[in-house]
Amino acid sequence: MGEDYRQLLEHCTLCPRRCGADRLRGETGYCGAGAAVRAGRAALHFWEEPCLSGDRGSGAVFFSGCTLGCVFCQNYQISADGQGVEVTVPQLAESFLSLQQQGAHNLNLVTATHYLPQVIAALDLAKSRGLALPVVYNCGGYERRETLRMLAGYVDIYLPDCKYLDAQLAARYSGAPDYPQVVREALDEMFLQVGEPVFDDCGMMRRGMIVRHLLLPGCEADSRAVLRYLYGRFGDSVYLSIMNQYTPLPRVRVRWPELGRCITAAEYERVIDYALELGIENAFVQEGGTVSESFIPDFSGQGLAR
Ligand code: SF4
Repeated sequence: MGEDYRQLLEHCTLCPRRCGADRLRGETGYCGAGAAVRAGRAALHFWEEPCLSGDRGSGAVFFSGCTLGCVFCQNYQISADGQGVEVTVPQLAESFLSLQQQGAHNLNLVTATHYLPQVIAALDLAKSRGLALPVVYNCGGYERRETLRMLAGYVDIYLPDCKYLDAQLAARYSGAPDYPQVVREALDEMFLQVGEPVFDDCGMMRRGMIVRHLLLPGCEADSRAVLRYLYGRFGDSVYLSIMNQYTPLPRVRVRWPELGRCITAAEYERVIDYALELGIENAFVQEGGTVSESFIPDFSGQGLAR
């Protein structure tokens, strides 16, 4: 892709917001991203699904800014508050290679869409220097099909969210009433690119798609709709990860009081029972309580090449 990628930042339409920010002239769009890549952390990460984290960890690179901006985001320090450090394309490539040297099972790009041209350039550079890890694209599911097509051949495992299928919820919590339509098309494109799941002899995923759904308080009906849709569309050809660790942050309780509590065990069990009733077999479910704020990692630039 070379330096051509910079043209894509001139009138940016990378994500469904299509806000047209001229990022090369210092403007930032809805996502908060300018011309330079900002990232919060590049480190081995042990809290993904077991077939991604394994025993050595997933090599996660957390990018700053976000095209979606969910009010309940657990990573708000980098998604909304702009924490992180600027890195060049060569530094990003070096960070990828460092994760491989540390033994990561895969390279896990977390919320990278608004930097996609630079990320592809960094992948090209890292591959030319020996990067051979499966590439995981870990995203919110709010992706343009045209932009995803740029990733064909680069991504081995898609790890998107399917947050809602109710436009009112998507509008209220993510400012994106078009999310349900957008995510349906995005998931189709992702599946087209990676297809059926493939695992190695140790049970680590090498290719395929895992769709995550985080239960939110009071949104059980939509969770059922999400599971029904995903299973109807993809059957057991994709894995579903049904997550219960929603944690109400103080900043959320004031404006969205209905989000001011955790998911109850009974709510989670009902949704899991529904998944079983549907016949879903390929699912990751969670045991135990919610994740506390102390699990939020340090996003001050740890592990990024400088
Ligand atoms: S990626 Fe950012 S700048 Fe580009 S269209 Fe989306 S919100 Fe706007």
